[in-house]
Amino acid sequence: MNKLLATDLDGTLLKNDKTVSEYTINKVHEMINEGHYFVVSTGRPYFRITKILKALDIISDKIYCICNNGGLIISTDGSNVLYEESMPYNHAVELIDLAIKYDVNMLVYQRDYIITDHLDEHVTVLNGEPRLKIIDGGKEALKKFQNIVKVVYNGTHEKLLEFKSKVPSEILNKYNFVFSGLDFLEVNNKTIDKGVAVNRLAEILNIDKECVYAVGDEENDIAMIKAVKNGCCVSNANPKLKSIAKFITLSNEEDGVASLIDKLILKPKIMVSACLLGDNCKYNGGNNLKRDLVNDLKEYNIIKICPEVFGGLSTPRIPAEIVNGNVINKENIDVTNNYNLGASIALDIAKKHNIKVAILKQRSPSCGVGKIYDGTFSNTIIDGFGITAKLFKDNDIKLYTEDNYQELLKKKS
Ligand code: SF4
Repeated sequence: MNKLLATDLDGTLLKNDKTVSEYTINKVHEMINEGHYFVVSTGRPYFRITKILKALDIISDKIYCICNNGGLIISTDGSNVLYEESMPYNHAVELIDLAIKYDVNMLVYQRDYIITDHLDEHVTVLNGEPRLKIIDGGKEALKKFQNIVKVVYNGTHEKLLEFKSKVPSEILNKYNFVFSGLDFLEVNNKTIDKGVAVNRLAEILNIDKECVYAVGDEENDIAMIKAVKNGCCVSNANPKLKSIAKFITLSNEEDGVASLIDKLILKPKIMVSACLLGDNCKYNGGNNLKRDLVNDLKEYNIIKICPEVFGGLSTPRIPAEIVNGNVINKENIDVTNNYNLGASIALDIAKKHNIKVAILKQRSPSCGVGKIYDGTFSNTIIDGFGITAKLFKDNDIKLYTEDNYQELLKKKS
C-alpha cells in the first residue's frame, strides 16, 4: 500500500547547518520510487523552500509540499495549487494592532513576499532574502498589504512568552498561535494547521488514513503529529511532541527522517535466489520457480541473486557438488574459485542493501541451507551449506529456504 510521509524542515529534515545529507536524499528517492508520497510540510512560504526542494531533487508536478503551516498545498514545481487560504483582512489588522500595543517585532507573509517595518538583528535566517520588503511608516503601514497568509512575531523567547501571556484569551482562541522556533511565534487562521493540510492532501491523493505518517520537532508540528495516524518526531524534538509521538526517530543531525523512512515507510528488503523467482539461471538452463513464494513476498523489496552466474559460470553449465569443502563439477573440474567469487559478490550486494534475511534455494552447492548433495552426483543429501549460504550465515544474515520461508512471514505478522 502506498504511504504518505509529511516532514517538517527546520530541526527535522534539515541538519543544523540547513543542509540535507546525501543519505537522506537517497532514502527520499527510494520511497518515491516505491510509489510512496514524500511531502515537505513547513511553516515557510513556498519561495523559501525551492532551494531545498531542488537539493532534494524532487521538483515535479506530481510531488507536493505544504507551506505556510498548512495554508498552501502546492506541487513542488509550483505549477499546481491544490489548496490555498489567506487570512481575512480584519484578522491581519487585529494581529498588527497587537504588535503595536505590546511593541513586538513582526513579519507579515504574503504568498510571494515577507514584509516588515523593522528587521530584528537576530533574525539572521532572512539575511539576503530577496523577497523581504522592509517598509517605512512603522507597523501601522503593514495594514496596507492585502492577502496576508500568516503573521510571525519575533524576538527573544522570553519576550514572546511575555507577549503571549498578555494576548486576550478571545484572540488566543481565535487563531493558532504556535512557536516554530524559540524566537518565532507564528499565527495562522484557526482553520489552518499542518495536520488539517496533511489529511487534506492524503484525501486528495486517495491514501488510506492508516498509511499517513508525519514527523516534526517543534510546537507548530503538534497539530500534524496529533492529526495523522502515525505521528512521529525526531529525538531532538520539543518535549511536548515527544510525549504524543508514537515513534521517536534519531535526531536531525543523525538523519532521523532517513532512518524513519527505512523503518516505517520502505518495504523490508529480502534477498532471494533468482532461480526461485523464475530466472532461467539453473545449471540446466531452467529455473526453480515457486509461484507461492513470489506471491507471498509482494510486501517485500526483493533483491535477487544468482551467485553461480556472478562467479562467471555460463548457463547452462556442468552440475557441481561440494567435495571436502571444494566445489567439483561432474567432469571433475575444480570450480571453487567461481563459487567463492560469486559468494563474495552476493555478499557485497547484501551489505550494500543492508540485507538481514535471505531465502535461498535448498541443496544447491551455492545456495543450499543446512542440506546439500554429498559430492557423488547420486542424489544423496547430507547436512551442509552451499558456499554463498555459508558466507551469509557467517555474516549474520538469517537464512530461510523455499521449504520454510513461511516461518519468516509468520514472524512478520
Ligand atoms: Fe539458483 Fe542459487 Fe543455483 Fe543460482 S546459484 S541457480 S540462484 S540455486
